[in-house]
Amino acid sequence: MVNIKDFDFAGKKAIVRVDFNVPLNEKGEITDDTRIRGALPTLKKILADGGALILMSHMGKPKGKVNPKLSLGQIAGAVAAALGVSSVKFAPDCADASDAAAALKPGEVLLLENLRFYPEEEGKPVGIDKEDPAFAEAKKEMKVRQTEFAKKLASYADVYVNDAFGTAHRRHASTAVIADFFDADHKMLGMLMEKEVTAIDNVLKNAQHPFTAIIGGSKVSSKLGVIQFLLDKVDNLIIGGGMGYTFIKAQGGHIGESLHEDELMPEALRIMEVAKEKGVNLSLSVATVAGDRFANDANRQVVDIFNIPDGWEGMDASEASLANWKKIIMDSKTILWNGPVGVFEFDNFAHGTGEIAKYVAEATEKGAYSLVGGGDSVAAVNKFGLADKVSYVSTGGGAMLEAIEGKVLPGVAAIVGE
Ligand code: AMP
Repeated sequence: MVNIKDFDFAGKKAIVRVDFNVPLNEKGEITDDTRIRGALPTLKKILADGGALILMSHMGKPKGKVNPKLSLGQIAGAVAAALGVSSVKFAPDCADASDAAAALKPGEVLLLENLRFYPEEEGKPVGIDKEDPAFAEAKKEMKVRQTEFAKKLASYADVYVNDAFGTAHRRHASTAVIADFFDADHKMLGMLMEKEVTAIDNVLKNAQHPFTAIIGGSKVSSKLGVIQFLLDKVDNLIIGGGMGYTFIKAQGGHIGESLHEDELMPEALRIMEVAKEKGVNLSLSVATVAGDRFANDANRQVVDIFNIPDGWEGMDASEASLANWKKIIMDSKTILWNGPVGVFEFDNFAHGTGEIAKYVAEATEKGAYSLVGGGDSVAAVNKFGLADKVSYVSTGGGAMLEAIEGKVLPGVAAIVGE
């Protein structure tokens, strides 16, 4: 496999899959440019070598149709500013950019229009229901069109670089299929991707013990694979936030109006059983800060986790639970954190998540390796200003979750092999 740091891009055109799916305000201005900044090391290296850049990304969910509100043309100026170049050329049709690509000179940058304006990017048939008998045929046909689309994109460049970790768990035209059109010496992971993959490997393959995973967030169902996989890896598994109440109800607790998933109660009990068998210390809340409605200004009271009154719902971690978790986290050598332990978007219920962020930062200062990932946990460390106090903050939500479930990401596999 080629390492991007060793590759000389001089005189080459590189097509780079970036994740420029940045949030925009009503005026089309970027409200958070983290993703653009994340790609800069790769992009600057290619330009500094004397290469030309063809940038491709998706933005939002246009579902295979042109949507001017999701045009990447809006961010061309911001991309130029971030790269420190005088201008970025824009190709308003990503599947018809051969001339623009051919005209590119070393040091120049061409940004392609939103890939997802074409259904071929995601490769899912549009306008046909999964239950429709014709769906299988439509899917087959779309796969053929997806390959053609990927081939077209590939034809613009000499080298393919994938630096979009956020979409690495998808087998899309630009994230995986395109790689088939480049030989092994002309495709590589970008620097952001390399960092992400290494950070996750560090935790899953080279973890120092005690290894603690903190899994919070809203639903057990969305993190089941992760929890099951981690039971084989960790010494401590902290389950907090909305996820926890399914475990409490499954044990016969009274959880009032708290978030839970009845159909996952048997699985929750099984997880507890497996944790016991494997000697994993599974730590649930002991008490919760409950609110009398789902709002920042709800009335609050601290209640025993097994006895949440009717009309009240658990919304934040209590001091008692935090004290248990602090001890576990501070004694850890490896920490993986995914998902807030309360409704941290409401300032009045953000205390627990802020404390967890602090403990993870303190443990990191003491020498632990900490990886924080998955959309909301990243928002949480940012909210508490602790992003640079943990070892690594992953930029990919779904991709990070799939990677810590032990799945091979299609975007990575397309370049490095299975
Ligand atoms: P996830 O995307 O699964 O990581 O879930 C993140 C969401 O879980 C955030 O929006 C939190 O507000 C929410 N959350 C965390 N704890 C609770 C809770 N106790 N009740 C309701 N929602 C929660």
